[in-house]
Amino acid sequence: MAAAAPRVSPRFFRRAQAHGFCVPDIPADVRAKCVAGTSTRVLDGRFVADALVAQCGALVAQKKGQGGRVPKLVVVLAGEDPASAVYVGNKEKMFAKAGFESETLKIASCDTTLEGLLSVVGELNARADVDGILVQLPLPAGIPAHVVLAAIDPRKDVDGFLKENMGLLALGDFSGALPCTPFGIMVLLAAHGIPLESKRAVVVGRSNIVGKPMSLLLLGEDSTVTVAHSRTTDLAALTREADIVIAAAGRPLLLGKEHVKAGAVVVDVGMHRKSDGKLCGDVDATFETGVAGKASALTPVPGGVGPMTIAMLLVNTAAAAWSKPLS
Ligand code: NAP
Repeated sequence: MAAAAPRVSPRFFRRAQAHGFCVPDIPADVRAKCVAGTSTRVLDGRFVADALVAQCGALVAQKKGQGGRVPKLVVVLAGEDPASAVYVGNKEKMFAKAGFESETLKIASCDTTLEGLLSVVGELNARADVDGILVQLPLPAGIPAHVVLAAIDPRKDVDGFLKENMGLLALGDFSGALPCTPFGIMVLLAAHGIPLESKRAVVVGRSNIVGKPMSLLLLGEDSTVTVAHSRTTDLAALTREADIVIAAAGRPLLLGKEHVKAGAVVVDVGMHRKSDGKLCGDVDATFETGVAGKASALTPVPGGVGPMTIAMLLVNTAAAAWSKPLS
């Protein structure tokens, strides 16, 4: 039987903890789940995300009893990108399940201008009932996303993308909103009892929303971190050195068996739709050519990092709401 996960309150979780959240406990049967026919553990993100949603529900009830507010997110959905519409729909469902409020402002591409979006963001910044603002990317062609994002009040930046929040993280200060995907990965690893201290981690990808903050969060937990990118030579030699591999290159099935050492923990951030309609990640998860049977643990696609990203959006929205003084 797998050993019970230790109760952890790592540095990156302290802001959430201050508002009543805890890293979810995972029952032994979930912790013991393996990729079929192998000893590679499945790092189930759906279970952990559901547990956080349940914590949100309980905390809302408790805070309401104390005169606290129900957290509210407003999503700005500009344009007609079908994938964005699906993501936003999933977010709405998760917010409703958690007992939080959410609103989506839909703006057609033909009505989207930079000035118009800046004015919408300005209004949302001023609204006392709005705790979090999320501008869904990508924006319609020609609209500079960085200008629109920079207009969000940093206290309502529940994505953790703004320089004020990223800057804190870069300084080793975890008191700001953390970017949801890497934050979710850290919670997933903690919940599954994966040790990070003194471990060698390789992050494949250096984007501002995943790779870079991921490396900073791992450093904060005392891993020894290397960041790889498209100009890295001999990626496989690098990742084979790692105890923990975070695959966030956005390249379907980039990492196979030859990229990991036996016993490595592999986190697959990638999300791609194959020609047969099925989803896959940046990691080949098969036994034959992939990491199953070689890695000690692996996040599934879907059901690994994806649900955690939305769960952390809830946690960041709650923290934004409950940081405000009671009115
Ligand atoms: P991105 O902005 O495209 O960044 C990709 C990074 O990977 C870049 O730094 C790039 O290097 C690097 N890269 C590309 N090809 C590489 C290669 N062959 N070897 C090594 N590094 C390589 O992507 P992102 O926004 O970080 O997202 C990464 C993936 O995660 C995507 O598949 C995305 O869909 C997925 N994602 C999933 C979630 C979720 O909730 N599940 C959330 C966010 C993102 P350069 O900097 O040199 O170009």
